[in-house]
Amino acid sequence: MSDPVVSADVMALAGELGAERSKPGWSHFSLALNSEQQEIRDWAHTFAADVIRPAAAEWDEREETPWPVIQEAAKVGLYGLDMNVNLFVDPTGLLMPLVHEELFWGDAGIGMSLKGTGLASSAIFSNGTPEQWSQWMGRCYGTPDDVRVAAFCSSEPGAGSDVSAIRTRATYDARTDEWVINGQKAWATNGGIADIHVVVATVDPSLGTKGQAAFVVPKSEVRGLEQGTKLRKHGLRASHTADVFFDNVRIPAANVLGGKEKLDERLARARSGESRNRNASMATFEMTRHIVGAQAIGIARAAYEVALEYAKTREQFGRPIIDNQGIAFKLADMALEIDAARLLVWRAANMSAALMRGETPDYRHGEGSMAKLKAGEVAVRVTEEAIQILGGNGYTREYPVERMHRDAKIYTIFEGTSEIQRLVIARAISGMRIR
Ligand SMILES: Cc1cc2nc3c(=O)[nH]c(=O)nc-3n(C[C@H](O)[C@H](O)[C@H](O)COP(=O)(O)OP(=O)(O)OC[C@H]3O[C@@H](n4cnc5c(N)ncnc54)[C@H](O)[C@@H]3O)c2cc1C
Repeated sequence: MSDPVVSADVMALAGELGAERSKPGWSHFSLALNSEQQEIRDWAHTFAADVIRPAAAEWDEREETPWPVIQEAAKVGLYGLDMNVNLFVDPTGLLMPLVHEELFWGDAGIGMSLKGTGLASSAIFSNGTPEQWSQWMGRCYGTPDDVRVAAFCSSEPGAGSDVSAIRTRATYDARTDEWVINGQKAWATNGGIADIHVVVATVDPSLGTKGQAAFVVPKSEVRGLEQGTKLRKHGLRASHTADVFFDNVRIPAANVLGGKEKLDERLARARSGESRNRNASMATFEMTRHIVGAQAIGIARAAYEVALEYAKTREQFGRPIIDNQGIAFKLADMALEIDAARLLVWRAANMSAALMRGETPDYRHGEGSMAKLKAGEVAVRVTEEAIQILGGNGYTREYPVERMHRDAKIYTIFEGTSEIQRLVIARAISGMRIR
């Protein structure tokens, strides 16, 4: 029997706390999507199911950019600057990952052809002036009748994870008020087939990454920009990846993102030993990593769904193979891991949106890296298990899971390898410069 006096006290305390905590601010946490988010997600899903997925195997085999699919996406409004702005303007931060997950659920190679341009346009957005946004961001995408893609060129043969090793050089020519760019970029998504190339180059090699800047190079207006080898890849084969060479490429001084004046000030600060706030620069990278994670989740979910359906219908020993715990538990783990990865992606999305609104979420523990790392590794594991569940069929191109497995692997490599993500997290949680 409970003591009636204690019960009354407990009830009074609960009532008091309940009244206090029903105030706005206590009821913020929610994983429920609002109706507009659901609508946009469903719109992307329908396009992925009706247009992307039926074309996936063909473009994977052709190893070519699926221009007709990009054009169709542009016509319905799913490809273009307006769409990107639409996804970006969401205080919860969820629209961007929601739509990426759906498109990559359709197919990752085609998804990357639709979303690779975002790397260049985001670089213009985060480093450029409002005038540069107006001048270049629309040109990255073209128009529905004349679609374009854009390329972001940072990596080089000798500078992948280590961006401080970038050798591409931008030299200012005061005589003509131009930058002259020389160097070689590697693995550039859309490199050479794009008009707008955003190129990271060093202006003062003695300053390491602090001596670097990003430049807009419109291929149609310059001489000396040549595509090198188009790479034949393990996965994401519908997405074009190539080396790009810059041989005395001249661009107007105004094409440095952020403007020359700001760059000169930044270089002067670096030369005088004034260092930038490390947290601020880390936060910049952390802002977008979760979006890449959402792409990986799209692939994982697609493979999981194929495997679940197959396991329910494939019979061996007189019963569906899912009737064995050995298979059912694999599927349970796949579902669990996908949801865990998505929660990390949504958390990072929400925190990064808050940061962009000028709030100060406690976003210093590698949350963006955790989201990308977990989602990439889940995608590799889930797609491999999907092949295992489909057995011999899973290993053939008659079923999509082998393609999904090939596509998934890049998610532990690009946009920061898994090892580099662990390094970022380890540094963030320890406050130490772990190597
Ligand atoms: C399909 C595809 C598309 C791409 N698109 C673009 C693009 O659009 N633009 C662009 O600029 N780049 C792009 N990249 C390049 C990509 O970002 C790099 O491949 C990636 O950053 C890794 O660099 P790397 O290949 O030189 O590997 P490396 O840096 O040489 O790494 C090799 C291995 O060593 C490990 N390693 C390196 N340093 C450390 C360390 N300090 N601690 C522990 N382990 C370490 C890595 O994790 C990895 O396992 C693309 C690559 C591919 C394959």
